Amino acid sequence: MDKGHHRDDEKGFGERIDACGVKEPVRTYLLRCADFHSSPAPGLLIGAFMVDYALDLLGASPDEKLFAVCETPKCLPDAPQVIAHITTGNGRLKVLPIGRFAITVNRVSENPTADAVRVYVDLEKIKKFPVIEKWFSNSSEFNKHTMGVALQETIFRAGRSLLSYEKVRVPVKIKESWKPVTCPTCKETVPDYMVVDGKCGACGSMKYYEKTE
Ligand SMILES: [Zn+2]
Repeated sequence: MDKGHHRDDEKGFGERIDACGVKEPVRTYLLRCADFHSSPAPGLLIGAFMVDYALDLLGASPDEKLFAVCETPKCLPDAPQVIAHITTGNGRLKVLPIGRFAITVNRVSENPTADAVRVYVDLEKIKKFPVIEKWFSNSSEFNKHTMGVALQETIFRAGRSLLSYEKVRVPVKIKESWKPVTCPTCKETVPDYMVVDGKCGACGSMKYYEKTE
């Protein structure tokens, strides 16, 4: 990527956040998310507002031990990772390939279930923001080259007003004890609970590469 170009974009981006009156902590969330993601993608920006909203609804701090489920792999999963240390690597973020633009967040719980809040983009509410609606519905009327800045500004001004939430309950994942199993095909080891039909995933349905030598 052309670094200089990226910096110019960032400058315009930061100025736009301020010009649209976005307050802390979301202002900083937006900047950090865009940097981590490598671009200020619209879904990521909405995601920052969604995570901020979920934290508020839970009365939680981003430094607490929190868990989340993202219902789309697109853009949104970076927001909880950057803002609240809810990462795929620490096992507190689950990304489900559902395709709804929604995130469910909960605190750590000693019980089999945890109270959670699910924040989603509300299709009724986005009708008030035609540029967001066009982008969100992947309409041919949306042109990112001519409407990208307007979309960003509309997202900043709209903030939470395009979101809704519901209170939900989620099962708490119990830490499984496990033993290593050596895959008979590749001779590498995997945890026993990940063995499928006597093989590791990569030697079965999750095969994703061909050997080249
Ligand atoms: Zn294998």
